[in-house]
Amino acid sequence: MNQTAQILFPVNVSTAFDYAVPDGLSLARGDFVFAPIGKQMKLGVVWSLNSNEANAERQLKSIVDRKATRPLPSEMLDFIDWTARYNGASPGNVLRMVMRNYKALDPSAVVTLYRPSGDAPKNLTTSRAAVLREGGPWPARASEAAARAGVSSGVVKGLVKAGGLVAESGPVDPPFEHPDPDHPGRKLTARQRAAGDDLVEQVKARTFNVSLLDGVTGSGKTEVYFEAVAQALRQGRQCLILVPEITLTQAGLRRFKERFGAEPASWHSQMGDAARRRVWREVAQGRCKLVVGARSALYLPFSNLGLIVVDEEHDTSYKQEEGVIYNARDMAVVRGLVSGHSVILASATPSLESLHNARTGKFSHVVLPERPGAAVLPDIALVDLKDHPPEKGAYISQPLLDAIKEVTDRGEQALLYLNRRGYAPLIICRTCGEKLKSPDTDSWLVQHKRTGRAMCHLTGFSMPMPKHCPKCQSEDSLASVGPGVERIAEEAQAAFPHARVEVLSSDTAGNPVELAERMRRMERGEIDILVGTQMVVKGHNFPRLTFVGVVDGDLGLAGGDPRAGERTYQTLVQVAGRAGRADKPGRALIQTHQPEHEALVALAAGDRDLFIGVELAMRDMLGLPPFGKLAAVIFWGHDPAKVDDLAKKFLNAAPRAEGIEILGPSEAPIGRLRGLYRRRLFIRADANVNLSKYMQAWRAKVRPPSKYKIQIDIDPQSFM
Ligand SMILES: [Zn+2]
Repeated sequence: MNQTAQILFPVNVSTAFDYAVPDGLSLARGDFVFAPIGKQMKLGVVWSLNSNEANAERQLKSIVDRKATRPLPSEMLDFIDWTARYNGASPGNVLRMVMRNYKALDPSAVVTLYRPSGDAPKNLTTSRAAVLREGGPWPARASEAAARAGVSSGVVKGLVKAGGLVAESGPVDPPFEHPDPDHPGRKLTARQRAAGDDLVEQVKARTFNVSLLDGVTGSGKTEVYFEAVAQALRQGRQCLILVPEITLTQAGLRRFKERFGAEPASWHSQMGDAARRRVWREVAQGRCKLVVGARSALYLPFSNLGLIVVDEEHDTSYKQEEGVIYNARDMAVVRGLVSGHSVILASATPSLESLHNARTGKFSHVVLPERPGAAVLPDIALVDLKDHPPEKGAYISQPLLDAIKEVTDRGEQALLYLNRRGYAPLIICRTCGEKLKSPDTDSWLVQHKRTGRAMCHLTGFSMPMPKHCPKCQSEDSLASVGPGVERIAEEAQAAFPHARVEVLSSDTAGNPVELAERMRRMERGEIDILVGTQMVVKGHNFPRLTFVGVVDGDLGLAGGDPRAGERTYQTLVQVAGRAGRADKPGRALIQTHQPEHEALVALAAGDRDLFIGVELAMRDMLGLPPFGKLAAVIFWGHDPAKVDDLAKKFLNAAPRAEGIEILGPSEAPIGRLRGLYRRRLFIRADANVNLSKYMQAWRAKVRPPSKYKIQIDIDPQSFM
C-alpha cells in the first residue's frame, strides 16, 4: 500500500507538503523525519498520514528517515495549528518557535560523575575530607564538587585514586528536582483558603475551564493559585506558570521553592542555549513538572499538561510583537481548550476582556477583595497641577514634597513613579528649534545624563550628547525638555539633600542581578526615595514604603490606543499598591492635568466598578473589544511610494463581508522604523465575525514584492 505523509517544516510555509513514505518505514503523527526540501535535507514533523490511491500517479519525493526520538505530542500539533489560524501566521513559523531548541531532541551528553564510595580512603588529608563533607549533592562532576569544597579539581581526582570516590556516568544536564505538592507552605486566611478550594475543584474536574483570580494588590493571589498547582502536581501532571519577564527574578522563584520544596525550571529570553536545551528536553520527556516562564514557555512541548496560570494577565508583555504575533494570555486559554485542562488568569487589575468574560459566565470569577491581616489598601488622591503648579523648571508639586518629607521624617520610604527612562525625553536646539531625531527611525532622541548619551528607545541607537546643534552648528545651544526619571531624582535630591535617592529603570538595573541587588537595598531600608519606571510596578514587597507619588498621571492617556484609559487605570492601581503592604497604611498622590478623566476619578474614589462600567459602555457603543474585534495590518518596505502602493493594492483586495469596517491605509505614528517605512490599516469587526479567518483569506490574495512585508496583528495592543 502506498502511504503519503504531510510534513510541516519549521520555515515560513503556510502548509504541510506531501511526501511518499518508503516501504518498511512506520510513521505516526508528530514524528520527526528527514526529508528533502529544494536541494536541502531538513528536519520536519509528520502533520498527517493517509493511504492515498488518488495520488498514486503523482511523483512524490520520499521521506528519507525518521529521527529516533519522542514525537511531538498530538495536542502540540493542534495547538500549533490553532495559533497559526487564530493569528493569521504561517504554521511553519509557529513550528519554528517550538523547534528552536531542536538539539534537545537528542539525549543529554553523558559525563563522568562521582559519589562517595563509603570506604575510608587511604591518606585522608584535610582538603580530601572537605570534598567528602562539602562536595555534594552527589553524584557530582569533579569540577562542581571541587568548587563546592573550595579545593582544586586535582584534589578530587586524588581522592578517586585513593578510593574515597567512585565514578559513574550520568547526563550532563541533570533532571530538575521534583516539586512536592504537600510541602508545608504559608498558612492561608479563611478567604484565601476558600478561593484556593474553588481553584482546586476546577483542576480536579480535568476538563477545560478558565478562572479569573481577581484579587486586590497584596491579597495573596500567588499563595492561592499555588493550591491549584499542588492539585495538578498530585495528579502527576505538568504545570506552567506564565509571568511577565521582568518579574522572573530569584526572589520570585524562591516563593516556589518555599511552597514546593524545589526550585522550578525557569524559562526566559536571556537563557543560554544549554539551559534552554535542558528545560526543553525535560519538559518533552514529561520529567519536568513545574515551569515558571515568560510568554514563549507556552510553546514548550509539554506532554502531560494539567494547569496553566497566567499571572498579571493584564500585562502587555504577554503580547509578542515580532515574528509570530500572538497574545500569550489568549493562547494559554487555547492551549487549555486543546488539552482539556484548567487555566487560571490572575491579576489585581484584570483586563476588561477577562472581566467581561467573568461577568457573562464564560470564566468563573474567584475574588479576593481584601489584604490579609492588618494591611489596608492605600489611600489615593489626585493633585490637580492647575491648582498646585510645581516651581518653574521643576516637576514635583508641593503636596508631593510635603508627603515625602512626612514619611522620610518618620524613617519610612517614598517612591516617585514616572514611566520615562533617562533625563529628558526631548533635546531641542534653542537657536534653530531643531529636535534631535534617531537617524533611521521616527522617534526623538532621549537625553541620558548618567551615560552622557542621546538615545533612541525604540531601536537602542545611541550617540554621545553632541556639543553643537547638528543643524545650525550653534555651540551649547541644545536644551533638555521634559522630565525623565534621572531628572526627577536630581530634583528630589535637591529638595532633600540628606535623603538617599536612587533611580530604578532598565538603565540602572538592566540585568536580574543588579535588579535584585537594588530591590534588596530598598527592602533593607537603605534607600529613602526611589525614583522608578514601570520596573517598580511589578510584585515587589517593600514593608517600609508608605508613600507613592505619580509624577505624570496623564502620560498613558495620550495617543490613539483605545485601551489608554484601561492601561492607565491598571498601571496606577499597581503603582499605588506598592504603598503600605505591612502594618503601616500607605498613601498615593497622582499629579494630573485632567482630574476629570474617568480613569483618574475612579482611582481616587477607589471605585473600580465605576470605571469598568463607563469603559464597557463606551466600548459597547464603539463596537470595540470585548464587544467587537480589532485587527491591524502593517506594511513594511524600503521605498515609501511602493509601501503606499502595496497598502492600496491590499485594500482593494478586501473580501466583501458583513459587519466589517476598514480604516486607512495611513502612515503609522512611527512612520519609519530601522530604515523601513510603515503604513497601516485597521479592521473593526462585529463580535460574530470570524476575523482570523477573514484576515487569512484576505492575506492569501496579495503577495508582497520581495523584501516587502505584510504583517497581520489580531487584537493589536500596540498602536505605534
Ligand atoms: Zn540648531
